[in-house]
Amino acid sequence: MRELTVDLGERSYPIYIGEGLLSEADTYFSKHGISKKSPLLIITDTNIAPLHLALLEEKLQAGGFNASSAVVPAGEGSKSLAMLEDLIAKALDAGLDRKSTIVALGGGVVGDLAGYVAASFMRGVKFVQIPTTILAHDSSVGGKVAVNHPKAKNIIGAFHQPEFVLYDLLLLQTLPAREVRSGLSEVVKHGLIWDASFVQWCEENAGKLLALDADSLGYALHNGCSVKASVVSQDEKENGLRAILNLGHTIGHAIEAVGGYNGLQHGEAIAIGMVGSAKLGVRYGAPEEVYHTTKRVLAKCELPIALPQHFDVDAIMEAMMHDKKFSEGTMVFIVPTAIGEVEIKSDVPVAWVREIVEELK
Ligand code: NAD
Ligand code: ZN
Repeated sequence: MRELTVDLGERSYPIYIGEGLLSEADTYFSKHGISKKSPLLIITDTNIAPLHLALLEEKLQAGGFNASSAVVPAGEGSKSLAMLEDLIAKALDAGLDRKSTIVALGGGVVGDLAGYVAASFMRGVKFVQIPTTILAHDSSVGGKVAVNHPKAKNIIGAFHQPEFVLYDLLLLQTLPAREVRSGLSEVVKHGLIWDASFVQWCEENAGKLLALDADSLGYALHNGCSVKASVVSQDEKENGLRAILNLGHTIGHAIEAVGGYNGLQHGEAIAIGMVGSAKLGVRYGAPEEVYHTTKRVLAKCELPIALPQHFDVDAIMEAMMHDKKFSEGTMVFIVPTAIGEVEIKSDVPVAWVREIVEELK
């Protein structure tokens, strides 16, 4: 079992990473003082519930916790105000009170949604995260919780930190292969912004990660979480440094938006975005090696490193202009200066970005 602490000054919380942790859920809940008197509500989705919910409910009930559950449809559509209202009704029906705890059993969607329920119910109750995707290593650190508005993603939200995060590697065994690759993209991103040796390790161990080898996954998630924890602990409320976590996301979000339903997954789109950012870095004077290494490590993780031909450059540029990172006539980009190092450029010429997007094809 690996353990790390997310240290946020006055508050800190642990992330436990290991195989079979769900089977000891009651021990962790007791250790962290989760109330046995007040009911707790587990929130999960329709894909995860048949696979992993019974074990969690059984362990918590056996441990004397008053646990019930709510299952939301899988997918981003559940991060909505309507679903929030629905879940608040379920929490009331289950008799939750101020001392209750909301438990997220799921990926980033369930984590963001359940976290926002926890942040709003009775002005905030305790929250526990049990991530079930690789991508959720990202969403379980930093305390950002949110639902979407039809006009904008993640626009209704809060900062609400969990009591602890229980990352059971066994739960990842049921993840579809595409979700595995997509999650690895964010793992690699954490290396690219912060830790060159971890990038090298990812390149050498990509095969094991794709095969869901528990030891390698544990190491990768521990490192990914550590990088994110280091960044957010220095900038909890997103005043500056935290922006580096957006490496690859300006181009990536635009690719995602243009792709629509049959397009690319988030991790796939940001992989291409990170290749674009590396190209931009080289334009600003970073060694060519930054570009080649970025491509190599992502390709080893079986992620796309070029824009599929049918994507329209104009549409991508337009989508980027709508992105919140475009302000006052300049484009903000996170640009690598070396492997494991990035800087924030706030005056990137749009013409350069266009050329880079064209070259990504
Ligand atoms: P997700 O939660 O939708 O999970 C992906 C898919 O895998 C879903 O269909 C889900 O049902 C299924 N699934 C999850 N775990 C499974 C398992 N163990 N076995 C089988 N199937 C499983 O998506 P995600 O990629 O985990 O997260 C994406 C969300 O995370 C987005 O909404 C994004 O905005 C959010 N996010 C938040 C933060 C943050 O800081 N709060 C950071 C990054 C991303
Ligand atoms: Zn991302």
